[in-house]
Amino acid sequence: MLPLAAGLPSLCAVCRRWSRGGICEGCLQRFAPVVPRCLQCGLVVRGALRCGACVLRDDAPVQRTVTAVDYAFPWDGLIAGFKFRQRLDLAGALSALLLAAVEREGVRPDLVVPVPLAAGRLRGRGYNQAWEIARRVARQLGLSAHPAVLLRLRETAHQLGLGEGERVRNVSNAFLVDPKQVRRVAGRRIALVDDVATSGATGDEAARALRAAGASEVALWVVARTPSTA
Ligand SMILES: [Zn+2]
Ligand SMILES: [Zn+2]
Repeated sequence: MLPLAAGLPSLCAVCRRWSRGGICEGCLQRFAPVVPRCLQCGLVVRGALRCGACVLRDDAPVQRTVTAVDYAFPWDGLIAGFKFRQRLDLAGALSALLLAAVEREGVRPDLVVPVPLAAGRLRGRGYNQAWEIARRVARQLGLSAHPAVLLRLRETAHQLGLGEGERVRNVSNAFLVDPKQVRRVAGRRIALVDDVATSGATGDEAARALRAAGASEVALWVVARTPSTA
């Protein structure tokens, strides 16, 4: 049961039936089953704590990924609406999904930060969708959150249309910890929040900037992870 389920009746964001909470129990069971995922990257994995790629990787800047759902129907449509069509009304339902996943994992970071947008894109959209999720999840857990510890130095093309190598190049050196905020990061365990992880390249690059500023550990918390095509 999602924490929001204790709230007032509202229309389920998926099926539009009345329910208590952002997403009804039936849709959660059908579309958001709890499945075993790689601790490190969030891909679905059976019979192991880490997927094969992560086992071979010892330089990962993200130590742990918490993922609520796969980026697939109906979450892909809801997240696109939330992000590109001003559907801020979906922030509560999407945050509740991530919150439930974080609570299942029982992780407690020192600080919650969103993957930032570049200034121009933030002005155009009017909000950073990652911060809208991050601040709600942090509030429910009683954790500190800050919207602008990480800066995005330049806007990057959307990762979805790119191949693996292009994704890494696309976000390379795109992030920096605001020099005025380094004291919030140094020696701390940080949870980095995003709406979607496509390949993990954006999360890795943002986490690298946090580690360079002295973060002792970085976890990536995402509502949805693009499933492996392998
Ligand atoms: Zn429903
Ligand atoms: Zn993995």
